[in-house]
Amino acid sequence: MPKTKVQHLKQWDRECVWHPFTQMKDWVREEPLIIDSAEGVYLKDIDGNVYIDGVSSLWVNVHGHRQAHIDAALKKQIDKLGHSTLLGLANTPSVELAKRLIEIAPQGLKKVFYSDNGSTAVEIAIKMAYQYWQNTGRRKKTAIVHLSNSYHGDTLGSVSVGGIDLFHKVYRKLIFKTIALKGQGWEAVANLENLLKAESSSIAALVVEPLVQGAAGMLVWPPGALRKMRQLTRKHNVFLIADEVATGFGRTGKMFACQHEDVSPDFLCLAKGITGGYLPLAATLTTQQVYDGFLFDYKEYKTFFHGHTYTGNPLACAAALANLEIFKKERTLSRLVPKIKFLAEKLKMFYNCRLVAEVRQQGFMAGIELKGRLEDRLGAQVCQAARKYGVILRPLGNVVVLMPPLSISLEELEYLLMATYRAIEETAVPRPFLGPFLSEI
Ligand SMILES: *Cc1c(COP(=O)(O)O)cnc(C)c1O
Repeated sequence: MPKTKVQHLKQWDRECVWHPFTQMKDWVREEPLIIDSAEGVYLKDIDGNVYIDGVSSLWVNVHGHRQAHIDAALKKQIDKLGHSTLLGLANTPSVELAKRLIEIAPQGLKKVFYSDNGSTAVEIAIKMAYQYWQNTGRRKKTAIVHLSNSYHGDTLGSVSVGGIDLFHKVYRKLIFKTIALKGQGWEAVANLENLLKAESSSIAALVVEPLVQGAAGMLVWPPGALRKMRQLTRKHNVFLIADEVATGFGRTGKMFACQHEDVSPDFLCLAKGITGGYLPLAATLTTQQVYDGFLFDYKEYKTFFHGHTYTGNPLACAAALANLEIFKKERTLSRLVPKIKFLAEKLKMFYNCRLVAEVRQQGFMAGIELKGRLEDRLGAQVCQAARKYGVILRPLGNVVVLMPPLSISLEELEYLLMATYRAIEETAVPRPFLGPFLSEI
């Protein structure tokens, strides 16, 4: 790329772009790192530097960048149809994908409602759960229960069921009231049991991130807790909404996290990895029971009045179909087993770092929690330090997240771990001046 274009892009980014989850005061003081191309697990910036994509481009990439099969599927689809609406019409890839998703999803999920991102996938589940009880005459069942430290997205509906103060507190007066379960793990399960015993007649649904609470800093649930929550919600006639936006599509070692505990939720929310990390697409899967709760004569006005303009976009659905084909063709999940083991083995060494408080892992999701105050932004410092070793990471507060594409090789994974280790060791040594850092949360 010509030097002048490089300079322009850097200048225009600072002038024109407001970045998500970013303190722009710090951002504009630094040179923006602008990605221009990619291949496999590597990202390349406009200056020609190459980096391992250590967090799968914010947890979305599955089989690597420029994956030949997905590229080909998209090129084929673009020669046929770019977009056509699902309001009053159907389109080929969205039908085929719905059929496929139902085949691979936990039992009992029979209907697919499309949207564009994880936040909408969760809001749709909440609205459906709520309206189901309204439609079927159980009007008092209105409350939504969620876990503490929960994260379900950034639109106001999903912020309402969010429990991370740093992101959510400021909007408290804008959002709807919910019930937050106190505690973590089995304590939260016990609190759920008490709550349901006392108040299930007023509760519509429980929404959870199964097995791993990602944005909370990769908090891992004790085995069996999800299954117990399913038993309790079923017993007390409360819907279970499983937000698998982060955990879906192989991240935890199985296609869906619910499948580790043979759990069939009433709603399954999917986004992030659904297109292999190519295009925005989301799906909310639900049961025949829920679907039937919306079948009335039109004049009763019990239709699910909800739909996004780009719902069921054919290009995104074609990418998602290709993504699923690769899982089968390349046996992605069985080839992931030794990589998960390797990751677990190597993560142990991080306990040798002075700065490390705890290491958590579930499948191919890992978080390394650092000792320190949030305002010291140690996570951001580590990620900044990792860049000079050619690794892109993005922390969650004081937690360094490792979440590479499932396609990463053992050698690449080892390099990623070594670079992260070095970056943490360097950060542990106090330096006189650290300067402003690009990434934060
Ligand atoms: C990322 C995420 C979301 C939000 O998805 P967006 O596509 O960013 O709206 C919701 N739930 C979980 C568990 C997530 O990790």
